[in-house]
Order: sequence, then C-alpha cells, then structure tokens
Amino acid sequence: MEKIQLWKTIIGELKLSASSADIKTFFPQISAASFEENVLTLSCNSPIVKERIENRYYSQIRRIAEKIVKEKVELSITVKPFELKKLSSKEKIGPLFNQEKPSPEKDLLQKKSSANLFEKYTFENFIVGANNRLAHTVALNVAENPGKAYNPFFIYSEVGLGKTHLMQAIGNRVLEKFPKYRVVYCPGESFTNELVESIRLAKVQKDALTNFKNKFRRADMLLVDDVQFIAGREATQEEFFHAFNTLFMAGKQIVLTSDKHPNEIIKLEKRLSSRFSSGMIADMQMPDSDVRSAILRAKKEEMRLNIPNEVCDFIAQNTQTNIRELEGIFTQIITSLQASNKPFTLEETREIMGKKEKTQNVSPNTIVKAVSAYYSIKLPDIKGHRRLKEFVRPRQLAMFLTQQLTNLSLTDIGNLFGGKDHTTVLHATRKIKEDIVKNARLKQDVENIKNALGIK
Ligand code: ADP
Ligand code: MG
Repeated sequence: MEKIQLWKTIIGELKLSASSADIKTFFPQISAASFEENVLTLSCNSPIVKERIENRYYSQIRRIAEKIVKEKVELSITVKPFELKKLSSKEKIGPLFNQEKPSPEKDLLQKKSSANLFEKYTFENFIVGANNRLAHTVALNVAENPGKAYNPFFIYSEVGLGKTHLMQAIGNRVLEKFPKYRVVYCPGESFTNELVESIRLAKVQKDALTNFKNKFRRADMLLVDDVQFIAGREATQEEFFHAFNTLFMAGKQIVLTSDKHPNEIIKLEKRLSSRFSSGMIADMQMPDSDVRSAILRAKKEEMRLNIPNEVCDFIAQNTQTNIRELEGIFTQIITSLQASNKPFTLEETREIMGKKEKTQNVSPNTIVKAVSAYYSIKLPDIKGHRRLKEFVRPRQLAMFLTQQLTNLSLTDIGNLFGGKDHTTVLHATRKIKEDIVKNARLKQDVENIKNALGIK
C-alpha cells in the first residue's frame, strides 16, 4: 500500500477516538515519510510532536495500520526539522484539516518547539528538596522577572541532577507569560558546532556568520546548557563573549548551566568565568532518599500507574544514583513487571532488583556478540533494520537479553540497536517472553546463549 494513502486512512480512523485538540494541533504536523517492508515511518518537525504521538497514539496507530494491511507493521517516528515546508501540498495531510483555525495553544507549542524547548520540563513537575531548593527559587524568580533579579543565572551540578530540566522550565514559563519573548535554548556543544559551520559556510554564503551572530544577539532570553563545552576553543569563546555582552548590556536574561563552578571550568577564559560569576550562582546536589521517592511517586502519577508508594520508597532507598539513572531503573522495573504480567508489589520489585544486582557485569556488546555468534549472523544484521526472518528473531532475542541482563533503559537499548525506538525494544522483549513459554527450541537457545555468557 502506498504511504500517503495508508496514513490518510489511519488518520481517518484516529479522528474517531483521538482528542480533537490533538487532531488539530499535532496531526497536521506529521507526514508519512515511507512505508517499506512493513515499517511505517512518520516524520514530524519537532521533538514535542514526536513525544506526544509516541506517548498517546503509538500503539493505536500501529494497530490500525496492521488492520489495514493485514500484516504486522512496525512504526517509527522521526524528527526532521523544516520538512513540512518542503512537502508538496499533495503530500501534506494538512488539507484534511482545512477548517482548522490558528489557536493560541498551537501557537505557544510552536514557539516552544522552535526555541528547542520540551513540553515535559516544567516547574510543575520539578520536585524540590534541600538538594536543589536555592536553584529552584532563583529559577522561578528569573522566569517571573527575566533580566531583572539575577543576571546571569548560573546553575551547576553533576550529570543527571536536573540542570536541563530547570533551565527548560524557565524557558517554558517565560514563553507562557510573555509569548512575544524570543527565547533561545542552545546546548554549549551546538553553539560551538553552529559557529564552526557558519564560519565554513561564510566562504560561500556572505551572511552565514551574521545570521549566526544575530540569532544569539537578538534573543530576549538566552539559555545555554552545558556551557563548559565552549571552553578551550578560541573563536567560540570570543563569539560567546560578544553575544554575552550584547545581551547583558541590553538587560536581557542569560541563564547558563555547567558541570562545574565557573572558576573550575578548565580552559575557560578568565573574562568569561568572571562574567559567569557576576550574577547568581546556585549548585544542585544529589537528592536524599525522600526526594528520590517523591520523584518516583510523581512519575507513577504522571504515567497513571497503580504502584503502591512503598514500592517507590523501596526503589528510592536502594538506588543511590542520580535522577536520570533512578528514572531509568524505575522504568526498567515497571517494564519487566508489565512484560511478565506481574503485579506491582514490593515482593516482585525486591526480586527484580535482586536479580539486576547479580547480573550487572555483562556488557551489552558481549550480549550482542554472543547472539550473533550463536546464530552465525553478522553484527550489523543483528543491530540493523532489515526485516528478513532470519534476522528478526535473533535481533529480538538480543534486545531481550540486553534488557534482562543490563541496566540499560529501553531507549538506550534502542540506540544500541541502530537507533530504534524504545517501543520497538519493548515489543521485542514482550514477544520473546511470550514465545519462550510456547517454544521449547527458543527456550533452549536462550539457555545456551546465557551459558555462553557465563550466566546461570
Ligand atoms: P542534567 O541536565 O543535570 O544532566 P536533567 O535535567 O537532564 O539533568 O535531568 C535528568 C532527569 O531527571 C530528567 O528526566 C529530569 O526530568 C529528571 N529530574 C531531575 N531533577 C528532577 C526533579 N527535581 N524533579 C523531577 N525530575 C527531575
Ligand atoms: Mg543536561
């Protein structure tokens, strides 16, 4: 079946059940990029749209597609900036929604998306504890009175403790309060890369460098995440210095994050570190187990999962990690309970966590290599996207074993397998768990591979 026809039919059916706000706001921003070998690839122009569709409609879209083509269909959603502009009007799904009026909600979403802000990072879902209270208070103040109270505002902490979340929450709040503001969120690494690219381009395109400079110098609020990445590079620091001064003199708010205090960033020019230190500096520390538990409780509410609080407390008490890892472990536990149809009880959680500890020392690459050796299939075919029968099963098995035997999240595993979606990984692990009960041969294969890996 042809991709556009398929997507139109799917949309037609989704309209019956999807929320009308989503139909108006999100679906017009998606197009069918390809439908090949039973993989439907949808493309959209922003990570926000991708996230929304994945969270709400992933399995529905897939089910409808499978009903239409009467075969198994895999779904993948990719983000391609500015793709919609290039599509011909025939290809766009847009005409289906002709009656739609521009809404303030859609407008705001688009602003957030073009500022590189994620909807999920808000003040509302940022848990405050002794470890981050100062940073949170200042961030709120900055968002309410940009350019007035604390400028620049510099946040630092080790990885996974909420810097990006807090910074994006500032940007989101500012756009809600002041929709006309030009908010620019930029990772330090991108600042460097974009500058290098525009210097290169400037040889053939006169205004490339000016465009780059203007993008930053015309901002009303500049958010630079992981600013330590500009250190050690002369041209980057020079340009950053000027952008900083221009904005600062004009009273525009600047927010920076880093893994260290400005004075401790190696190879950061003195003129920059002294400017970074001239406003307000706040650090964030590891959360204690009460805060960790509060984070998990909030997360289960958000996911609408019926998990007892004592399970959250237990996980929080038994994982002394940063918040990113904590979330990863939480998702893993939920996934493995769901996949094996077990209830969310303290007992089951305890058992899973016990198992994880025992098997932590197998590396994901060792697992993939063992599977590839066992089935005599080349590594690229295991990790790749070709849907030949002889590759699909070993690939699913390798994903399943990686999920069982390592601490990687579904997203991490998807990345390891050539950038697949976390739902593809989830599907694979579920499939193997189902089949293993019915299929003695498969069960034996799994045992043999585990033996090869030295796992009982
Ligand atoms: P960093 O930028 O410091 O490496 P992130 O902002 O990416 O860390 O945070 C890692 C993960 O932890 C994100 O999913 C974020 O939403 C979550 N997180 C961090 N701090 C908090 C908090 N105080 N409350 C809720 N979630 C948090
Ligand atoms: Mg970050």
